Amino acid sequence: MEYRKTDIVSAAPTCRSCRQEGLIEFLSLGPIPLTDAYVAHALVGEPEPRYPVDLAFCPGCRLVQILFTVPAEVIFERYSYYSSFSETLLSHSREHVRQLIAERHLGPASFVIEVASNDGYLLRNFVGQGIPVLGIDPARGPADAAETIGVPTLREFFGSELAARLRAQGKVADVVIANNVLAHVADLNGFVQGIAIILAEDGVAEIEVPYVRDLIDNLEFDTIYHEHLCYFSITALDTLFRRHGLSLERVQALPIHGGSLRLTLSRNPDTASSVKAYLEQEEADGLNGFDYYREFADRVTELRSGLRTKLMELRSEGKRIAAYGAAAKGTVLLNSSGIGSELIDFVADKSPYKQGKFMPGVGIPIVPQKSPEYVLLLVWNLKDEIVREQRAYLDAGGRFIVPIPVPIAMGKEDVPSALSG
Ligand SMILES: [Zn+2]
Repeated sequence: MEYRKTDIVSAAPTCRSCRQEGLIEFLSLGPIPLTDAYVAHALVGEPEPRYPVDLAFCPGCRLVQILFTVPAEVIFERYSYYSSFSETLLSHSREHVRQLIAERHLGPASFVIEVASNDGYLLRNFVGQGIPVLGIDPARGPADAAETIGVPTLREFFGSELAARLRAQGKVADVVIANNVLAHVADLNGFVQGIAIILAEDGVAEIEVPYVRDLIDNLEFDTIYHEHLCYFSITALDTLFRRHGLSLERVQALPIHGGSLRLTLSRNPDTASSVKAYLEQEEADGLNGFDYYREFADRVTELRSGLRTKLMELRSEGKRIAAYGAAAKGTVLLNSSGIGSELIDFVADKSPYKQGKFMPGVGIPIVPQKSPEYVLLLVWNLKDEIVREQRAYLDAGGRFIVPIPVPIAMGKEDVPSALSG
């Protein structure tokens, strides 16, 4: 089934940042279903809505972006992620808040705004120190949860209009935080302009984004999907922020989410040395040219066909193959590689919410753990943890197929002793 044209707000013929025409498409993952649209048993075989995921490069401002935008309402009506369930994220946030309070000398007279504040998992740390906050998040469930723990939250989408309204009410932020939201925003310029409007003259904004370089160098193409509209380099971000009177004051690399950047923005127009180093490195390594991305697309194409061939060989030898981890990236990997129920018997997953349902687009059932001969690791990023947990499976002769960055099969003889626990 083709995507429903009526569901697409804009076909982005111009760049999401600089508005220039002439975007160069370099990778198509095809029309695929929303990655978490797990299918109930009764609906298997029914057409599923699919939306294109085509990646393009802007030769004007060097921003990598997908061309189509699924309306935010379609995504948000289903959104039920609660950040407080991630222990890693909680400790990451506590540390971030501790650092901000110390660096910015925040106290009861300060004001902190967080965009995409979810269930208040980060802002609660300021509230605990008596520092006034405001959360902004359109997802009703998480926003309600934030209110119940004392984090005031506006249930709205953030942009220049809301920022102007807050400013008119006398609300000006000493610190604006926006973690893992910039890549999801359809109106990129409206969002950054909103930050510029709401920020105090000497205030800072801290924004966390995934880094396009990690995506490309680690071949993480399965993290490309509808919700992720942009894939940022520092070069592209620098241009975007300066357009709205903001500049990068600092860039920090963070290990969270498989490699992210924390950006500090202010109104100080000087280019800081950490920023200059990133800009020069990106230029030297080719991130500002199209070849870098074309080569990535070639490697992805090779990986997808290599993986499919490997699975078909195993299947033709009569082996039974399952997959592990019904995650968003699995939906992308399976759909974009043309791997369906003819190759994979089932996907094992620990979540009772997903068990009994089917992977979007490919009709593979999701079940509690079972033990086939081969298991394709859809959550390959958790490989070490899974190998440790599933040592008994490997000892019994089971084998994992790790798809990225090169499809390989591994058995107990391949496990480094450090992981054998
Ligand atoms: Zn552009």
